Amino acid sequence: MTTENPRECFDCKAIAPDTETAHTLISPRFGWRLSRGRNEAGEFVPEWRCPKCWREHKRSKGTAASGEFAAAMVTPSPPPSKSGRER
Ligand SMILES: [Zn+2]
Repeated sequence: MTTENPRECFDCKAIAPDTETAHTLISPRFGWRLSRGRNEAGEFVPEWRCPKCWREHKRSKGTAASGEFAAAMVTPSPPPSKSGRER
């Protein structure tokens, strides 16, 4: 039962361009950006944004530069092992 979320824009819910390989690829090719967010459980959640929304996002946040690198630096490492703290 794995439900992998389709890559969609965090803001406008546009579906990311289809790619056959790892998620990082859509960034350089299509201008999508991945930033890190956290859900209510404090877990890392990827937030994709289409080029348009990314700009808005950067604007509204004011902190620009670091996000630019986020996509490139995303490593396909698994999340930290669950050490017994599950709900
Ligand atoms: Zn968008």
